[in-house]
Amino acid sequence: MDDLPASGASFWGQGSWQIHVAATEPWLAHRLTILHELKHIIDHPRQSDVYDERAFVAYGERELIADYFAGCVLVPDALLRKEYRQTPDFQKLAAVFSVSERRIRHRLSEIGLVDSLHSIPRRSYPTGDYVIPAERESERRTV
Ligand SMILES: [Zn+2]
Repeated sequence: MDDLPASGASFWGQGSWQIHVAATEPWLAHRLTILHELKHIIDHPRQSDVYDERAFVAYGERELIADYFAGCVLVPDALLRKEYRQTPDFQKLAAVFSVSERRIRHRLSEIGLVDSLHSIPRRSYPTGDYVIPAERESERRTV
Protein backbone atom coordinates (compact mmCIF):
# COMPACT_ATOMS: atom_id res chain seq x y z
CA MET A 1 0.00 0.00 0.00
CA ASP A 2 1.31 3.42 -0.87
CA ASP A 3 -0.52 5.31 1.86
CA LEU A 4 0.06 3.02 4.85
CA PRO A 5 1.05 5.22 7.84
CA ALA A 6 3.22 2.45 9.32
CA SER A 7 5.58 -0.22 7.99
CA GLY A 8 2.81 -2.78 8.05
CA ALA A 9 -0.58 -3.81 9.31
CA SER A 10 -2.49 -7.06 9.62
CA PHE A 11 -6.22 -7.62 9.84
CA TRP A 12 -8.94 -10.11 9.08
CA GLY A 13 -10.77 -9.28 5.88
CA GLN A 14 -12.48 -10.95 2.93
CA GLY A 15 -12.35 -14.31 4.68
CA SER A 16 -8.62 -14.43 5.39
CA TRP A 17 -5.84 -12.67 7.20
CA GLN A 18 -4.36 -9.77 5.32
CA ILE A 19 -0.87 -8.39 5.77
CA HIS A 20 -0.19 -5.07 4.14
CA VAL A 21 3.25 -3.50 3.91
CA ALA A 22 4.20 0.05 3.06
CA ALA A 23 5.13 0.20 -0.61
CA THR A 24 7.50 3.05 0.14
CA GLU A 25 9.83 0.82 2.11
CA PRO A 26 12.55 -1.37 0.58
CA TRP A 27 11.72 -5.03 0.10
CA LEU A 28 14.25 -6.18 2.68
CA ALA A 29 12.31 -4.23 5.29
CA HIS A 30 9.17 -6.02 4.15
CA ARG A 31 10.57 -9.32 5.42
CA LEU A 32 10.80 -7.98 8.96
CA THR A 33 7.42 -6.30 8.70
CA ILE A 34 5.68 -9.42 7.36
CA LEU A 35 7.19 -11.59 10.11
CA HIS A 36 6.23 -8.99 12.72
CA GLU A 37 2.65 -8.99 11.46
CA LEU A 38 2.62 -12.80 11.23
CA LYS A 39 3.42 -12.96 14.94
CA HIS A 40 0.40 -10.76 15.65
CA ILE A 41 -1.75 -13.17 13.61
CA ILE A 42 -0.30 -16.22 15.39
CA ASP A 43 -0.97 -14.61 18.77
CA HIS A 44 -4.42 -13.31 17.91
CA PRO A 45 -6.53 -16.28 19.10
CA ARG A 46 -4.74 -16.36 22.48
CA GLN A 47 -3.69 -12.75 22.90
CA SER A 48 -5.79 -12.19 26.02
CA ASP A 49 -4.11 -15.22 27.62
CA VAL A 50 -0.62 -14.25 26.51
CA TYR A 51 -0.53 -10.49 27.02
CA ASP A 52 -1.46 -8.10 29.75
CA GLU A 53 -4.57 -6.55 28.24
CA ARG A 54 -4.17 -3.13 29.80
CA ALA A 55 -3.78 -1.13 26.62
CA PHE A 56 -0.67 0.77 27.57
CA VAL A 57 1.11 -2.46 28.51
CA ALA A 58 -0.27 -4.70 25.79
CA TYR A 59 0.75 -2.48 22.94
CA GLY A 60 4.42 -2.29 23.91
CA GLU A 61 4.62 -5.92 24.94
CA ARG A 62 3.05 -7.17 21.73
CA GLU A 63 5.25 -4.99 19.58
CA LEU A 64 8.45 -6.02 21.34
CA ILE A 65 7.56 -9.70 21.08
CA ALA A 66 6.59 -9.37 17.42
CA ASP A 67 9.92 -7.66 16.70
CA TYR A 68 11.77 -10.33 18.67
CA PHE A 69 10.00 -13.08 16.72
CA ALA A 70 10.89 -11.45 13.39
CA GLY A 71 14.51 -11.01 14.49
CA CYS A 72 14.77 -14.65 15.53
CA VAL A 73 13.46 -15.85 12.18
CA LEU A 74 15.73 -13.62 10.11
CA VAL A 75 18.79 -14.04 12.34
CA PRO A 76 18.51 -17.43 14.04
CA ASP A 77 20.42 -17.84 17.30
CA ALA A 78 22.51 -20.90 16.32
CA LEU A 79 23.49 -19.50 12.92
CA LEU A 80 24.40 -16.14 14.39
CA ARG A 81 26.59 -17.78 17.05
CA LYS A 82 28.36 -19.83 14.36
CA GLU A 83 28.90 -16.87 12.04
CA TYR A 84 29.97 -14.57 14.89
CA ARG A 85 32.67 -17.07 15.98
CA GLN A 86 34.03 -17.07 12.42
CA THR A 87 33.58 -13.38 11.65
CA PRO A 88 32.91 -11.07 14.60
CA ASP A 89 32.33 -8.16 12.24
CA PHE A 90 28.91 -6.50 12.45
CA GLN A 91 28.93 -5.25 8.87
CA LYS A 92 29.86 -8.65 7.41
CA LEU A 93 27.26 -10.38 9.56
CA ALA A 94 24.66 -7.90 8.36
CA ALA A 95 25.50 -8.90 4.80
CA VAL A 96 25.36 -12.63 5.63
CA PHE A 97 21.85 -12.32 7.08
CA SER A 98 20.68 -9.50 4.75
CA VAL A 99 19.64 -7.31 7.67
CA SER A 100 20.89 -4.04 9.09
CA GLU A 101 24.00 -3.82 11.22
CA ARG A 102 21.74 -2.48 13.95
CA ARG A 103 19.64 -5.65 13.76
CA ILE A 104 22.81 -7.77 14.09
CA ARG A 105 23.91 -5.81 17.16
CA HIS A 106 20.46 -6.16 18.63
CA ARG A 107 20.37 -9.94 18.09
CA LEU A 108 23.91 -10.34 19.45
CA SER A 109 22.80 -8.49 22.55
CA GLU A 110 19.67 -10.63 22.87
CA ILE A 111 21.72 -13.85 22.84
CA GLY A 112 24.37 -12.43 25.14
CA LEU A 113 27.32 -12.15 22.78
CA VAL A 114 27.67 -8.40 23.19
CA ASP A 115 27.25 -6.59 26.46
CA SER A 116 24.01 -4.69 26.21
CA LEU A 117 21.61 -2.82 24.04
CA HIS A 118 23.12 0.41 25.36
CA SER A 119 26.08 -0.15 23.06
CA ILE A 120 23.86 0.06 20.00
CA PRO A 121 24.21 3.49 18.43
CA ARG A 122 21.06 5.36 17.55
CA ARG A 123 20.57 5.99 13.89
CA SER A 124 21.71 9.38 12.80
CA TYR A 125 19.47 9.07 9.77
CA PRO A 126 16.81 6.51 8.92
CA THR A 127 18.58 4.34 6.36
CA GLY A 128 22.25 4.93 7.09
CA ASP A 129 23.47 1.70 8.60
CA TYR A 130 22.53 -0.91 6.08
CA VAL A 131 24.96 -2.94 4.08
CA ILE A 132 23.26 -3.03 0.72
CA PRO A 133 22.46 0.58 -0.25
CA ALA A 134 19.73 -0.28 -2.75
CA GLU A 135 17.98 -2.49 -0.25
CA ARG A 136 18.19 -0.53 2.96
CA GLU A 137 15.67 -1.05 5.68
CA SER A 138 14.22 2.23 6.86
CA GLU A 139 13.34 3.13 10.42
CA ARG A 140 10.27 1.08 11.00
CA ARG A 141 6.99 1.80 12.66
CA THR A 142 4.57 -1.06 12.87
CA VAL A 143 1.08 -1.41 14.18
ZN1 LIG B 1 2.97 -4.64 15.55
